[in-house]
Amino acid sequence: MTTLPLIPATSGAPAARRAAMPPQHLADLDLAGRQALVAELGEPAFRAKQISTHYFGRLVRDPQLMTDLPAATRARLADRLLPSLLTPVRELACDDGATRKALWRLHDGSLVESVLMGYPDRVTVCISSQAGCGMACPFCATGQAGLTRNLSTAEIVDQAVYLAGVAASGAVAGSPARLSHVVFMGMGEPLANYARVVAAIRRLVAPAPEGLGLSQRHITVSTVGLVPAIRRLASEDLSVTLALSLHAPDDDLRDELVPVNQRWKVAEVLDAAWDYAARTGRRVSIEYAMIKNVNDQPWRADLLGRLLAGKLAHVNLIPLNPTPGSRWDASPKPVEREFVRRLREAGVSTTVRDTRGREIDGACGQLAAAEDRDIDPATAASA
Ligand code: SAH
Repeated sequence: MTTLPLIPATSGAPAARRAAMPPQHLADLDLAGRQALVAELGEPAFRAKQISTHYFGRLVRDPQLMTDLPAATRARLADRLLPSLLTPVRELACDDGATRKALWRLHDGSLVESVLMGYPDRVTVCISSQAGCGMACPFCATGQAGLTRNLSTAEIVDQAVYLAGVAASGAVAGSPARLSHVVFMGMGEPLANYARVVAAIRRLVAPAPEGLGLSQRHITVSTVGLVPAIRRLASEDLSVTLALSLHAPDDDLRDELVPVNQRWKVAEVLDAAWDYAARTGRRVSIEYAMIKNVNDQPWRADLLGRLLAGKLAHVNLIPLNPTPGSRWDASPKPVEREFVRRLREAGVSTTVRDTRGREIDGACGQLAAAEDRDIDPATAASA
């Protein structure tokens, strides 16, 4: 593990958190909105395109580097369109630099994290949609602390733009320089921050200079299964990939592992998923964290196989990344292999997710949780 340039955390920040939304940023607005704002500031409308080309086209986030803008104009536009939203607290690299994790402090002191993953054929970023999360899944580090607040559209987009810039600098050896994939699998429940997440997706897929120009098919929204929001997403003119965090095929266990199941049951959430698949033509990714002696029994593999056989679905088994202090562990490999075998035997396409970034607390709020422990002497002592 390598620690990259580090800006030390200031102590006492958590107490100062006010959970306030950040100032407006150009990524909150579509191009027409930016043009209207620029005109309001008394600048010619073409400046909106110019500044957007810097941000989305060249991945330049620092107004000081936008030297083709006259200084006074730059200052005026930067003030209203390019406030600094993310302050890097820590950047970590592992897997020989192919995985990089960034921990950010937001303007109100909230901490969120993103991960950049390089593969031979693609570059993926995993981004956060909320500071904390209100879904309370007991195996997830983010779920333990509860929800602080929704991220703004621009706070979501800026994570991707920042890390696209890191990739473009050639930092991820052996991978393409261009960001191609975005997954909403960082902190938070994206569909609980629906309007801002959908606006962020629109920015990610709009061609430059309005947006980042990614393919809709290369964007994955992962959800605990908020049924009305899944149905609403299906009715947008977007066909992003839906990932459903199922984690159990039966209501008894899923009520515990994904507490929102107490509201929308397995049958109901799968129904919504199949409607999503039918409307968009996109295969739904069924996420299943393999937890030793909890959800990894052969009978549960068979039940899951029966629920998914013949559907437009793919199972993504995730070896559990045990969170500090948790009573749960990952399933042993032979158990995992048997689970995969049974699903495939049922005709269900199944893969096991690679364990990228394990040594840098790569999963789900663990870096932010570690940072909180580092800077809070009370919890640090007991950790
Ligand atoms: N709230 C969304 C997205 C965030 S988490 C959701 O629940 O889908 C992305 C995925 O990582 C989810 O499937 C989540 O259940 C899973 N996850 C969370 N904590 C984990 C852990 N400790 N080990 C393995 N997977 C975990």
